[in-house]
Formats: sequence, structure tokens, C-alpha cells
Amino acid sequence: MINLKPATFKLGLIGYPLSHSKSPELHKGFLSKCGLKGEYKLYPILPDDKNALKTLLNRVRSGEIHGLNVTIPHKQNVIPLLNGLSDTARTIGAVNTIVFKGGELIGENTDAPGFWKDLQELLKTREDLLNPPSFCAMPPHALILGAGGAARAIAYALLNTGWDITLATRAEDISQVEELIADFNIEIPECDSKLTNIELNTTSLSPLIPALSLIVNTTPVGMSSHQQGSPYPKDLPFPPNALLYDLIYNPPQTQLMQDAEKAGLKVRGGIGMLKAQAELSFETWTGCKL
Ligand code: NAP
Repeated sequence: MINLKPATFKLGLIGYPLSHSKSPELHKGFLSKCGLKGEYKLYPILPDDKNALKTLLNRVRSGEIHGLNVTIPHKQNVIPLLNGLSDTARTIGAVNTIVFKGGELIGENTDAPGFWKDLQELLKTREDLLNPPSFCAMPPHALILGAGGAARAIAYALLNTGWDITLATRAEDISQVEELIADFNIEIPECDSKLTNIELNTTSLSPLIPALSLIVNTTPVGMSSHQQGSPYPKDLPFPPNALLYDLIYNPPQTQLMQDAEKAGLKVRGGIGMLKAQAELSFETWTGCKL
């Protein structure tokens, strides 16, 4: 029998900047857990350097590199340089994993299933939200703060599992939301799920609060390298019995998580999603189930 697996897996991450990435540490752990030899390198590529992107992707086509992750600012930039996209990556409009299969370079997105997998830990604290058949009759409602790349992955995961969602964005952000609504409306054949948008302020959000089961922060507000504080309006009460998921993983406990916890909500930070999306990428490249 011919062993098609490489003796040494050559994996890596494209993005810029990359100095604080946790991915090498995570993937080295996965290699060791699976008993595989390999490396996970950082490939910092400046936002406008298309030639460097092309050259690196050709090294995947030639079999020199076996798999790549993609992060900011290249999640959209790589798309025209690939041969195809998975359905998930196409709908979300972003690629975080590149794999060479069947002679083609394919873009995948593991952020959405990674989020959904990790969200299950939080949903376990609300059994009623874990039961999909009830969704069509009375869908649970999630509020997503922000409408950037990560929000698209979260919206995809929630809409495909029967949730109603509302995106709350800064007033000037309308075009991002309009684009997302146009891309996602056709993706919900069974349940009559809704995707709406609203301004991220107390007046717009107040009427929605009693209906909410989940709040997801996809803005960078509260990240250690970014603007401190919380994206949630100061004078707005939290919904009773709701859950809060903050995609930020550094710091592990954001201001928003602290405020929500004080108000009695169950909260979860983004480190679990980071690990889950990395595991799914690693499984795609190596076939080793973690
Ligand atoms: P992005 O594409 O830049 O989107 C950020 C969104 O947040 C935009 O809608 C932006 O609105 C909004 N925003 C920024 N500052 C804001 C503020 N002060 N008030 C209100 N809204 C604000 O970034 P992304 O790729 O979606 O990433 C967002 C966050 O998710 C980052 O912290 C990232 O680290 C995290 N993330 C975590 C994981 C994980 O695995 N845990 C995965 C992906 C992303 P404007 O367009 O108006 O600026």
C-alpha cells in the first residue's frame, strides 16, 4: 500500500502582523498529539503584496507546503488566487484554511463550525436552546455586535442552525450589513429565520432586549491591543437569562464579559473558538481526528 501522507507536514499561517499569533503553539500541540512530524510557520505578507501571496500559494500547489491558515488582512485577498471554495467559505466570503486536493487549491472556512462547536459549551447551560426542532416554531434570537469578517462567520453558523439574528453596528457601517444581508438571505430554506440590522445604541436596542437569548461580540472593542472598554451601551440593561459569547481571547476576560457576568449572564470568551477552528483546519490537512 502506498502511504500518501508526507513524512513531515509543512503547515503555516498567512497574515499581517503575525507576531502575537497563538497558531504555531496550537498546531505544534496537534502534531505531537497525532504522532506526526511537522512544522507550522508564520508567513507575514503585507496587505498589498499580491505577488508574495501568489508565490506562497504556488508552493502549496507544488506540494512543498501542505496546508495554510489565513488571517487578517488576507481572508478575502486569497479568494481570486484559488481554484475553488467550499460552500461555507463562499457564503461567508472569507477563507481561513487552504488545502490542496484533487489537483486544486481549495479555500475553506472553519471559523463558522469552530464557533458553533465551542458555543455548544455555553448552550449546555440553557438546554432549551440546544433543541433544534423548536427553532422553526419559535426561533431563539441572537444579537451580534459588529458586522465585519468574523460577524459573517457567526451569522452563517447561527442562521444555518435556525436562529434569528440581529446585527448591531455603528451608524456609518450600513454597507457592510447590506452586503451581508444580500449574501445570506438565500441560505435559509427551512425555517423562516430573520436577519436584520440595528444601530449599536440604547434607543435602537432597548425594544429587542427581552427577546434575546444570546449576545455575541465580534467587534475588537476590549481586545488588549485595541480600544479598551465594552462595545455594549453603558445604560442598556442585559437581557435576563441570556448567554454572552465574546470572540476576543486576549484578554481572556473582557470588560463586556465582566459586566455581563455581574448582571447574571453565563459568559464565554473566544479561546475555545480559536482552538476549535484550528482543530478543524488541522483535521482537513492531516486527516488526524483530534
Ligand atoms: P473586522 O472585519 O475588522 O470587523 C470588526 C467589526 O467591529 C466591524 O463591523 C467594525 O465596524 C466593528 N467595530 C470596530 N470598532 C468598533 C467600535 N469601537 N464600536 C462598534 N463597532 C466597532 O474584524 P474581524 O475579523 O471581524 O474580527 C473582529 C474580532 O473578532 C477581533 O477581535 C478578532 O480577534 C476576533 N476574532 C476571534 C476569533 C476566534 O477564533 N476567537 C476568530 C475571528 C475573529 P467598522 O467597520 O465601523 O469599523
